[in-house]
Amino acid sequence: VSEKLVIIGSGMATARLLESLADNGYGGAITVIGDEMQASYNRVLLSSVLAGEKNSQDLPLLDISWYRQHQVELITGETVVFVDSQKQQVKTHLGTAVDYDKLVFATGSRAHIPNIPGVQGLGVLGFRSLKDLDAIRRLATTGKRAVVVGGGLLGLEAAHGLNTLGVDVTVIHRRAWPMNRQLDAEAGALLQERLEQRGIGFVLSASPVEVSLASGQVSGIFIDSGDFIDADMVVFAAGIDPNKELAAEAGIACNRAIVANEFMQTRKEGVYALGECAEINDMTFGLVAPVWQQADVLARELAGVPTSGYCYEDAPTQLKVSGIDLFSAGNIDSGDEIYSQVMRDKEQGIYRRLIFTEDRLTGAILLGDRSGGTWYDQLIQSAESIDAVRPWLMFGSAYAAAG
Ligand SMILES: Cc1cc2nc3c(=O)[nH]c(=O)nc-3n(C[C@H](O)[C@H](O)[C@H](O)COP(=O)(O)OP(=O)(O)OC[C@H]3O[C@@H](n4cnc5c(N)ncnc54)[C@H](O)[C@@H]3O)c2cc1C
Repeated sequence: VSEKLVIIGSGMATARLLESLADNGYGGAITVIGDEMQASYNRVLLSSVLAGEKNSQDLPLLDISWYRQHQVELITGETVVFVDSQKQQVKTHLGTAVDYDKLVFATGSRAHIPNIPGVQGLGVLGFRSLKDLDAIRRLATTGKRAVVVGGGLLGLEAAHGLNTLGVDVTVIHRRAWPMNRQLDAEAGALLQERLEQRGIGFVLSASPVEVSLASGQVSGIFIDSGDFIDADMVVFAAGIDPNKELAAEAGIACNRAIVANEFMQTRKEGVYALGECAEINDMTFGLVAPVWQQADVLARELAGVPTSGYCYEDAPTQLKVSGIDLFSAGNIDSGDEIYSQVMRDKEQGIYRRLIFTEDRLTGAILLGDRSGGTWYDQLIQSAESIDAVRPWLMFGSAYAAAG
């Protein structure tokens, strides 16, 4: 009798895990249970679908025929509500019970919605799933004003999408400039200006304190300055909460997320956690690159193929807003020991900053022209001395080689 593997969640981590299990010749019987109506799809592209640059047919990660061919049992539209780790069985909200020998939590995370009055109202949304996308689009046909809480990557992509749908959008952001984790103040201000020119409004250094409702429907939002912003919808894109509750209820150790080691093993034998629901060496995840690396490690682990385990690698950031080139990599915090080269061309909307620590390149911000980004990222990752090419670095690898 072959091993029974059950995977909870049918998101991006799971798609990669399934492919990788097939590649590594895993011989067990696999069941995937996901609460969304669709099999795994490319969540990253939801922003581009909202902005009308892609359509829903571009989203699926694996064909339905793939599951048949590989004899993976796929259950969609069912939420796992109970894990009995004694009996080694999971149960869904519809009463479906599935036994397992090995269990993988790949439950991802959800939009963080702060505990403030009014958030239960109609028109308060996250931006995480196809269901959210449909709800946002539906509201956009009747509502003409939206507030997006969060001026990070996800918030700006949501704001851009809403703006292209003809909705009047205001972004509320806690910090003094958008994308403060990836950009310095000057680049942040320049990005803000570009987005303002398209009609997106910004309220900075502000946090929401209450969503106001009229007959249960969003009518606006109060911020901590006391100001009120009219809105028919509020989209929260300010952080994520890992879906760890199911595991915690089953007695599996959790911290900020489900605690796992570099082989994705939780503290319970035979139970694994992968992707945004997992916490590995005190770290949680919000981007797909590390999640897919983890999936490859877990596939080898389950298939009995040697693996040296998951090791975190920093990945560069790009903003998916058409017409705005933006790249950020490495550490962009300005400390005392840090020097930088800056190139600015205000008229062209170009700002490029390379950040050095001693003789190494440690960060790069490229706005308006992201050429050279991949090379800079390689230099940052390799931590090699750039002394010899430093004067030509700004102009790209061809110049540096010629210099
Ligand atoms: C709009 C948007 C844009 C993004 N853009 C980028 C980007 O440009 N670059 C990047 O690197 N990352 C991006 N991300 C992040 C990326 O999508 C995630 O890192 C990735 O999806 C994480 O994969 P995951 O499998 O851990 O979680 P998910 O893909 O969220 O999958 C988890 C699945 O488990 C399901 N589930 C949860 N609980 C249960 C349960 N009890 N029973 C059954 N099913 C359950 C969930 O509904 C979900 O379908 C973006 C995310 C969003 C929302």
